[in-house]
Amino acid sequence: MNITYLGTNTLLITQGDTTLLVDPHFSRPTMLSLLGKIRPDPARIASGLTRSGINRLDGILLTHTHYDHALDATEVLRQAGGTLYGSESAIHLVQGAGLGVKTGVQVVPRQIYQIGSLQVCFHPARHVNFPAPMGWLMPAEGRITRPLRPPTWLWNYQCGAVYAIQVDRTLIFGSAGFEPGAYRGLAVESVVLGVGGLDLQPQSYLQALYSQAVLDPGARQVFLSHWDNFFDPLEKNSQPMRLAKRSISQITALGARYGHTVQVLELAHTIPSA
Ligand SMILES: [Zn+2]
Repeated sequence: MNITYLGTNTLLITQGDTTLLVDPHFSRPTMLSLLGKIRPDPARIASGLTRSGINRLDGILLTHTHYDHALDATEVLRQAGGTLYGSESAIHLVQGAGLGVKTGVQVVPRQIYQIGSLQVCFHPARHVNFPAPMGWLMPAEGRITRPLRPPTWLWNYQCGAVYAIQVDRTLIFGSAGFEPGAYRGLAVESVVLGVGGLDLQPQSYLQALYSQAVLDPGARQVFLSHWDNFFDPLEKNSQPMRLAKRSISQITALGARYGHTVQVLELAHTIPSA
């Protein structure tokens, strides 16, 4: 199984003929444009898919429905096909886009879904808490309660239920939050950890996160995602965003203590994963 990092928490997962996309975010509206209503950008999505070599998808998997994880999901579905797997909030995005009910699956936590050659399981998780003012715009709780049709305000992309998504022996956290005790004994090989906003948390939180999300499921490899400045177009990015720099070095130090490999996922690079 290979993982290609496409910025934010967008992960292209391939194994043989099976192609999955986690949290697609190609539109990347600028910070200024977030003051107005937002919508997926079909041209940017088309070029993002082409550049990544994606012409068809088997599944789109959503960790939660904040705009930087879910804004593009339905347009990607329209362009590349497949089935969208996510929370009830995610299904309201499918309905709002006027796509057929069969294109969305509201997941049952801990149930195993066979998608092509890959086994996918959605474990309960939580979203990291952002302090104000970010926390007002993107609260860690809240759901999309009716079909959502863009263009619409950023805050209408409510978080919904949050999942840590297991794809075979890799466990993916789109946000640096965890459900205590939920990953014990999963026997995964690798963890992908979204570090966005983690610098705003106290050091003790990072320790707890590492223990729950990496040590509990028995992972030995940690890949860091959601570190880039996703207000810029993908081509411009290379610097870790302001809110993730300190945590990247702290997680790297924690990993070294346990003999784990910690790797910051590089944009457009493909790595083998278990
Ligand atoms: Zn989020």
